[in-house]
Amino acid sequence: MYLAIRKLNVLGSVLYVAAHPDDENTRLIAYLSKDRLYRTGYLSLTRGDGGQNLIGDDQGIDLGLIRTQELLAARRVDGGEQFFSRAFDFGFSKTPEETFTKWDREKILSDVVWVIRKFQPDVIITRFPTTGEGGHGHHTASAILANEAYTAAADPKRFPEQLKHVAVWQAKRVLWNTFNFGGNNTTANDQFKIDVGGYNPLLGKSYGEIAAISRSNHKSQGFGSAGSRGESFEFFRATKGDQPTTDLMEGADLTWKRVPGGEAISKMADNIAASFDLLHPESSVAGLVNLYKAINSLPDGYWKKQKLLEVHQLIAQCSGLFLDATTTDQFAVQTDSVRINFSFNNRLGTDAVLQKVVVDKFDSTFSKTLEKNKNLNFSKTFYVPADKPITQPYWLAIKMEEGYFNVPDVLAIGQPDVDPSYQALIQVKIFGESFTFVRSVKYKLTDPVRGELYEPLVVVPPVLLATDENHIISKDNNNFSGTLNLTSKKKGFNAILKDVGREQADQVKIKYAPDNILFDDKDKTIPVNYEVQANKDNNYFFAVDANNGRKDVFHLGMKEIRYDHVPYINYFTVATVNNQKLDLKIYGKKIGYIVGAGDKVPEALEQMGYEVTLLTEKEMSKNGLDKYDAIITGVRAYNTNAWMNKYYDKLMKYVYEGGNLIVQYNTSNQIGPVRAKISPYNFDISRTRVTDENAAMNILKPEHPVLNFPNKIVPDDFKGWIQERSIYHATNWDKEKFETIFSSNDAGEKADEGSLLIAKHGKGFFTYTGIVFFRELPAGVPGAYRLMANLIALNRKKAF
Ligand SMILES: [Zn+2]
Repeated sequence: MYLAIRKLNVLGSVLYVAAHPDDENTRLIAYLSKDRLYRTGYLSLTRGDGGQNLIGDDQGIDLGLIRTQELLAARRVDGGEQFFSRAFDFGFSKTPEETFTKWDREKILSDVVWVIRKFQPDVIITRFPTTGEGGHGHHTASAILANEAYTAAADPKRFPEQLKHVAVWQAKRVLWNTFNFGGNNTTANDQFKIDVGGYNPLLGKSYGEIAAISRSNHKSQGFGSAGSRGESFEFFRATKGDQPTTDLMEGADLTWKRVPGGEAISKMADNIAASFDLLHPESSVAGLVNLYKAINSLPDGYWKKQKLLEVHQLIAQCSGLFLDATTTDQFAVQTDSVRINFSFNNRLGTDAVLQKVVVDKFDSTFSKTLEKNKNLNFSKTFYVPADKPITQPYWLAIKMEEGYFNVPDVLAIGQPDVDPSYQALIQVKIFGESFTFVRSVKYKLTDPVRGELYEPLVVVPPVLLATDENHIISKDNNNFSGTLNLTSKKKGFNAILKDVGREQADQVKIKYAPDNILFDDKDKTIPVNYEVQANKDNNYFFAVDANNGRKDVFHLGMKEIRYDHVPYINYFTVATVNNQKLDLKIYGKKIGYIVGAGDKVPEALEQMGYEVTLLTEKEMSKNGLDKYDAIITGVRAYNTNAWMNKYYDKLMKYVYEGGNLIVQYNTSNQIGPVRAKISPYNFDISRTRVTDENAAMNILKPEHPVLNFPNKIVPDDFKGWIQERSIYHATNWDKEKFETIFSSNDAGEKADEGSLLIAKHGKGFFTYTGIVFFRELPAGVPGAYRLMANLIALNRKKAF
């Protein structure tokens, strides 16, 4: 509260711009926000959808949703505000030119301009330079866009459609926050520098300590960090505007003088700070109310709006007002009801009278004095109409493009999070002035281990659909069948399955058994078998009719993501299955799969017709391996399972006696050291990757069985791949022992043969591959299936 009161007299703002969750300098953000007391923001162009996930098998959109929450958690610690553009993190990109072929450059630039015009930063700071030292193409692209946006935001001819909602804005300068990491030192003593290593006695922490707590929220990236203490410098070089000589914010007025008539405010705020009583913050409330009125009488403008919000929040905090609106259910179900519990307490006995509570169409007037430290509890049940919008992240509401999200509501662009499903507006009269406090209605629970938790309240349809598989492949006929799971969120829901789904391209009939289900309870899941006869590859959609006379058709499935370190995450997609008739032959039957960091390869192998056994440590120690035609290690198995080392000899013996060990990629760096011996012969793991999913795969040994048996690999097998070809190639391999099959490279780089290494060892085979089967198989890429089948067939161990 005391920091926030002191901040009332600081009218300055800084926007930090980079490409990904984790790019931001949390120490600098903590320092700017909590020492300098500037309004500080971080614009991450992407949500980090493309990186590796160290805590689970979520990828793509799901990973972006997790990282969105990790960034929000980081900002709650370091005091920054979070923004995003529409850009999608489509995976590693070597150059900004490649990045801009997927991001719509003009659209993403308009997003950066939009955030700048809204946020009105005095200074913009980029993590990376425009010249490429930042490595990743997204990094360089983020700097290029920030520098362009500095000029464009001030130009009324650029993106004039935004000017209905925001004004043009000229920041003072763009600074590149030079760095010294990974052996790449771009700092220099002639650059402008500031010491951000100070200690904040009000918070009891140094900015280096706050930064570490903030950064450790990036758990999906394995960025747990240690705090630092003592002097530490950040270096800057201006890339737009003038070089600062004495201060970052040089040339910007950071006082109330920048608001016409604002000078009197500054004295009022000083007085509130001077008389602030740590034990009785409520003594400051009357002064804050007067300050609110004084600011409110100023002409409209950015700082008036900003400071009113700050004072408003301070009034609630200094009053000790507790205003809670919660449910005991996670879900508000369309066509059902939800009960909201209100709990208010005027804990410090401010002069406060409850006047009004508004939620949706509920609007209730009160005239109730809130007595000191007395709970006021009441509940209200609401009907959730069929047209109440489901709780969907706005950037996923309509189908995305390859490189960016489509956002129909332009005003939503930049917003970090999902809109809350219900908001309670609570109007309280404090020292004669009415204030409306807005609280998102939350699902509140007490977890036996984690304690009291607040999670989002989520609006869902009465029935949810989920298929067991997203892709069904068929090797020999046109009949596809699978399981559709229906989950009712409402007791007594009658689901009638329709024979034709929505958007069906060719009106294919889907047969369901059973096709009429009455749910006697909520949260019950009932499986339904479906059969489709198809003559070509297609997507099939499912539809469920509610027998309630209103002909509602439901077709959504819900994805849920739960981790302890972030709030509950969900989003909806149309329930669909993609069938594919593949020309695929397999040889061998039994596969042992050693799970690594998590991937969906085993499910794909089962679809191919193999019997898959997941090999845990226990399985590895107990059982013989000779029954397996191939053993495949999941992605990063040698990074995540320390116990692999114990079974090196056993695996090598298995190979030597005629087995077939296929090792998918592992990393070799400080966050992912290899923890066990992998191979019978030497090779190292590099960071070489081929990020162009259409890069040529030049065949080095056309006669090799892996290209011929049981499937003849043809150029078409390398069509339709997604995101990339291969990552973490092998390097320095034993040339006597290993054969390489492909050479490949990204544009402008030299050819590399490390994507697939095969060695004969005794009677069996050992393979290391950086080819991204873990992406291509779940995406249903035919060539990846055929190549995987050939790897499994290498030892031709058994006919069946
Ligand atoms: Zn990055």
